[in-house]
Amino acid sequence: MTLGRLRRWVPDAVWIERSEDNSALTRRVRARLPEIPVYVVDDLSVAEPGDFAAGKRRLVVQRHRGTFLQHCPAGTTGMVCCNYLVMSSASNCPFDCSYCFLQDYLTNNPAVKVFTNVADGLSEVDAVLRAHPERTFRIGTGELADSLALDHLTDLSSELVPFFADRANAVLELKTKSDCVDNLLCLDPKDRVVVSWSVNAPVIVAVEEAGTIPLEDRVAAAARVQAAGYKVGFHFDPLIAHDGWEDGYRDAIDLIFRGLDTGRVAWVSLGSLRMTPRLKAAIKARPLRGQLLATELVPGADGKERVWRGLRVKMYRRLLEWLRQVDDRMPLYICMEPAGVWEKVFGEAPPDRTVAQRLVAELR
Ligand code: SF4
Repeated sequence: MTLGRLRRWVPDAVWIERSEDNSALTRRVRARLPEIPVYVVDDLSVAEPGDFAAGKRRLVVQRHRGTFLQHCPAGTTGMVCCNYLVMSSASNCPFDCSYCFLQDYLTNNPAVKVFTNVADGLSEVDAVLRAHPERTFRIGTGELADSLALDHLTDLSSELVPFFADRANAVLELKTKSDCVDNLLCLDPKDRVVVSWSVNAPVIVAVEEAGTIPLEDRVAAAARVQAAGYKVGFHFDPLIAHDGWEDGYRDAIDLIFRGLDTGRVAWVSLGSLRMTPRLKAAIKARPLRGQLLATELVPGADGKERVWRGLRVKMYRRLLEWLRQVDDRMPLYICMEPAGVWEKVFGEAPPDRTVAQRLVAELR
């Protein structure tokens, strides 16, 4: 794997589940990585538990077993849930953000995995959409993986975008920190696909988001997909209370929206740094890069630790003020916060599980 910023990820080796060696996705991956060692195997344990960095250098191509479609894990006790659904087309990601919850979530089985049977996942989605034509769904692929960082190997976006473009009651969100958007440019999303970027203050990108591209390159990719007909979104998540955070986030907002059509921004979310005790332990066990664990955090109703409520509210209010100065029509929301924080930031809390519905309705 190339160190430093990853323009296009190339693994050190590929492991292919024997039964999947002739799948269309496997053939694409093999064709794009002609120089990389390939092992066709029955046993897919390619990295030892806890060897998280090694897992990020290994690509596994396998069949997904179990259901593809799940509720976003953010919908936990005491938090306002936006009713986001997640379709897992891959697991793990080539980037290595210091705060990433996958360090805890995938600790026993670390490897970058792509699934050969995404068509089964789309059948699941189709069944849910047909069963509930009265509802609108916001579905993402970027929770357990980066939605686009492997697209140069898999072409999965070429299956996902046409599928969702033809669905009246769903919107797909492709969430990424990459600029891997080439496949999207020749597809017609028909306003049913939003491409979004996780963004942060430039110093946080540089110090805490190893392997990712700079903010200006993410914005350049957003401008390209916007020109190709997509709406775009941005997630300031996790907000980190670092020295100079006001200047850092103000600069990020200026940089992001300077060259974009803000009328075609589908949504902007804000979320605070969140830590479970297990994630903290996983981070401590790895070489530390920045000041992440120097921040004082307090536990919330969902068992996750965040900076204290007064500072979170202050940060949300400051960013919302700047975002509204850019364009007060952009849909804004906060992620994984209790109703009390919503009320202090927006003056009211939305009814539980209605945020996704509202955001999708506002896209039309
Ligand atoms: S880009 Fe997202 S999934 Fe990938 S390492 Fe960073 S936080 Fe984790």
